[in-house]
This record gives sequence, structure tokens and C-alpha cells, in this order.
Amino acid sequence: MRLIDLRSDTVTRPTPGMRAAMAAAEVGDDVWGDDPTVQRLQAVVAERAGKEAGLFLPTGTQSNLCALMAHCGRGDEYLVGQLAHTYKYEGGGAAVLGSIQPQPIENAEDGSLPLAKLAAAIKPQDDHFARTRLLALENTIGGKVLPASYVAEATALARSRGLSTHLDGARLCNAAVASKAALAGLAAPFDSVSICFSKGLGAPVGSVLVGSRALIERAHRWRKVLGGGMRQSGILAAACLYALDHHYERLAEDHANAERLAAGLAQIAELKVLSRATNMVYLQVPERHCAPLESWLKERGILAQIFPATRLVTHLDVGAGDIDGFVAAVEDYFASR
Ligand SMILES: *Cc1c(COP(=O)(O)O)cnc(C)c1O
Repeated sequence: MRLIDLRSDTVTRPTPGMRAAMAAAEVGDDVWGDDPTVQRLQAVVAERAGKEAGLFLPTGTQSNLCALMAHCGRGDEYLVGQLAHTYKYEGGGAAVLGSIQPQPIENAEDGSLPLAKLAAAIKPQDDHFARTRLLALENTIGGKVLPASYVAEATALARSRGLSTHLDGARLCNAAVASKAALAGLAAPFDSVSICFSKGLGAPVGSVLVGSRALIERAHRWRKVLGGGMRQSGILAAACLYALDHHYERLAEDHANAERLAAGLAQIAELKVLSRATNMVYLQVPERHCAPLESWLKERGILAQIFPATRLVTHLDVGAGDIDGFVAAVEDYFASR
């Protein structure tokens, strides 16, 4: 039975075309700088994002960590959202492995970090304090595209106070497609940007970090230290190149499917759609229905994690028909109560 899986956009499987591209990839030992496919991916993504250089890494977590470690040294500090992936969902790597102190800031409803809170959190130069070095934002965050005007203001504030800037752009391609903006435009305000290929773009593995040549050289060293130097990784880079060519524009379909999902679920009295942005729908589900609804769906070949605030994610492997099937199964559940 084919499963409908709305848990995350990381669950996609490589398509036959992607597998063919991977099988045909020209490879070499990338630790020696010999892999032409990795070199091409790094150059292509850097160019698309308007930066000097790129670095291919196995995961977004390692990409963000290499970036943070390239920007900050021991005893430095970075400003980051309480809800940010680099702060909340990466095992505290910045502190554990980078000796970098996070200064978390409460995210506003739209995912932004209020400017006044940022300004107040930047520490004066004084031996009592960690040295505030970096502002890290995330776009999309909770599926939401950060307002461009906010990004401009926050990064200008950071620059005016001598901080550098990093963007966790795991889903920046979703932001670009949703706002009909060029990747380079969204990346421009930042010194470094990390982009995931294993999310909506549908590659099995991989992230690319982009930035200045000097920054990427520092990140390259940390990638080796963190165990991310890979050998014939052109096989994986080929999947990412294929994804850029074939799965970028189609992210609009995922966004349309998320809208279809939100519209369908909005018709169900027991549920409340909290938000819908790019490929994510957040749904309020009464506590007592969470576990039984999750089991009901699972019995019908549908995977979703049902919580009081449920996140549903659309992607390459779910079509409009699957969305309708999902909504119908949820309707049936409530009708059966
Ligand atoms: C998925 C994700 C990452 C990286 O996750 P990996 O599983 O390590 O690739 C980073 N930031 C955000 C916002 C993400 O969604």
C-alpha cells in the first residue's frame, strides 16, 4: 500500500529521473577537491544565491554549525530565535561543539525577532560579557516567509552594530517560489546562507552553504573537523543538481496543495486551521482526539503526527488526490465519533 505521508517534506524518495542522474554522476574524491559534480553543485548554488562560493555538506545541521563556527569563535555569542532550528532542534551544537553562546530571542508571531529586542540583546564590549558576533535568522520559519522589509531592517541593524549575519535557509527555495523572488535577492542581505536539498527539493541528502570565499574556506575546515568531508559525494550532489533543475518551480504545487489542505480542513467543525504558509499547515486539534485520530489515519495508510498544534507538510510525494484522501479520512473520523 502506498502511504500518504504528511509528517515532513524530508520523507520524499528520489524519483527515477533523480536516481538516473545519480547513477550517471561523474565523481572523484571530494576531500582532495577532485569531485567535478560536487564542484559544479557548489558553483551553481553560489551563483544562484549571488555569493562567491559554496560548500556541500551532508546535512543542514552540519551546514548551520559550520557557518556558526566560521563566524564565531570561542566565547562569542549569536542572536537567534527561541524557535529557530539552529537553537532548538540541533542538539545545542553551537554551544556543545562550537563554544558559541546562543542568545535566544522570542520570535514574534510572523517568525521575526523584534528589532528592539535584538538591539537590547547586543552586549557592550566588556570583559563581563560574551562578544556578540552574529545574527542568525531563518526563512521560511514555521513555513512562513519572513517579510523582506523586516529582513532588510534586521540585517542593517546587525551590520550597524558590527555583527555578521547568517540565514538558515533550509526552505529558502520555498520562500523564493512563494514570493516570486530570486534566490539571490533573498540571500543578498546575509553573509552566509544554508540551503537544504533534502526538504521540498526532494534530494535524499545534502545542504549547500554559500558565502564569501574567505568564509567558505573557514567552514570547509570545520566541515572536515566535524566529520563531514565526504569522498565520491558527486553521487549525492548529482541528486541536488537534478532537484534544482526539476523540482524548484514545482514547489508552487506543494504550496497550492497546502492551501487545498487548509481549505478542506477548515470545513471540519472540530478543527481550527491556525496558519497556512508555503508548504505547511498548522492545525489545532482537541487534545482528546489527537492519539485516536493519528491511529485512525495510520490504519488507512496515512502518516501524520497529530498534536494539539499539528504540523502538516506537503511535498513532492503527495498530490492533490492524496490531499483530498487525507481530508476525507479526517472527516470520516469525526463522523464516526
Ligand atoms: C531541516 C532543517 C534544517 C537541517 O536539518 P537536517 O535534518 O540536519 O538536514 C535546518 N534548519 C531548518 C529550518 C530545517 O527545517
